Amino acid sequence: MQIRDIRATTVTVPLEAPLRHANGCHWGRFVRTIVEVETDNGLIGLGEMGGGGESAEAVFRALKTTLVGHDPARLEEMRFRVANPTASLYNNRTQVLAALEFACLDILGQAWGVPVSEILGGRLRERVRFATYAFFRYPDPRTGTGEVRTIDQMVAAVGEWKRRFGFTTHKLKAGVFPPDYELEVYRAIAAAFPGDSLRFDPNGVWSAEQAIRFGQAIEGLRNDYLEDPVYGMNGMRRTRQMIRVPLATNTVVVNFEQLAANVFDTAVDVILLDTTFWGGIRECVKAAAVCDTFQLGVAVHSSGELGIQLATMLHLGAVIPNLSFAADAHYHHLTDDIIEGGLMRYENGAIRVPDGPGLGVRLNRDKLREYAELYKRLGGYPYDQDPARPGWAPVLPNDRWADPSDGRPVKIPY
Ligand SMILES: [Mg+2]
Repeated sequence: MQIRDIRATTVTVPLEAPLRHANGCHWGRFVRTIVEVETDNGLIGLGEMGGGGESAEAVFRALKTTLVGHDPARLEEMRFRVANPTASLYNNRTQVLAALEFACLDILGQAWGVPVSEILGGRLRERVRFATYAFFRYPDPRTGTGEVRTIDQMVAAVGEWKRRFGFTTHKLKAGVFPPDYELEVYRAIAAAFPGDSLRFDPNGVWSAEQAIRFGQAIEGLRNDYLEDPVYGMNGMRRTRQMIRVPLATNTVVVNFEQLAANVFDTAVDVILLDTTFWGGIRECVKAAAVCDTFQLGVAVHSSGELGIQLATMLHLGAVIPNLSFAADAHYHHLTDDIIEGGLMRYENGAIRVPDGPGLGVRLNRDKLREYAELYKRLGGYPYDQDPARPGWAPVLPNDRWADPSDGRPVKIPY
């Protein structure tokens, strides 16, 4: 089998409401580049890439000459062609490699008549559990609904997501408002859902001292972990020495060099594996094995996904033995998807691992066209900007918090 063509289409798919985070905002929609890799025997494998609100079409177009004629089964060879570590100082293509790996695994699964999970060692579970990914949100620019800013709004929103999707683990995405306010919000969620487990992620914008103060304050709660309270292994290590809550990261351990450093001098307890950030599903499986060896925890990270990338997360979650936590997904904030059948469904807080060959998802071409048109109309958005605070940028450690009492309407183009 040989690769004959590579196509990329940028889409933008609406969210229920804009999602606020420590670095800015998802402006009411995700921008994703959908990749199609076609082989000489007519199979089409699907990949997906994010990119902080921007299109990545150009890089896939540029790689076509490198990859036409390549055997999609030669994944290690492709890794060196696309993302050779010694060349990556100039062109870091880790996420590009990931999208191509998804597509090639999808092709192999179709060619061999098996789901991707069976290529990766075989599934240990049929369903992957997910956490409520609870964001502070601006109101939907189209309807003015969906705001999550106050404590009452957050508790009501978590209750609604729990009722609709069955979640029993709640992750609060924080780092937006002053830490003491977010502590109140976190405690309110804990009090409202006492049987459920919790996790908190301020995206690394605190000082180590703030992280220690917060970590000590939440010690009595049912925490899975405290995620990236501070940016940098040394800050994480200092925090870890002073609190009795496990620490997790998706920022300071995202490659094997950093994983090795964390094994030699542990700064983080739980490694959040992202099929995109690590350069593919297979790299995550390898990293999970290292974590298993050194008895570090793992969970599945979400960098914002449509159904193709969600499928990669499900196949990953199905095959790693040491998945002891619910996975993260932004997926329940989406209003639609570009795959056949529409949005995948949650059952009791979990999503079934697709059974079909390959990734087990197929493109709905009408939806692809519709959301490609929407992208042409709206363009990208700056992931690291806040639409309500033009010119704002957080510093590290941050002290430029948003004001939780500020409920003024925000103009977000749609
Ligand atoms: Mg995180």
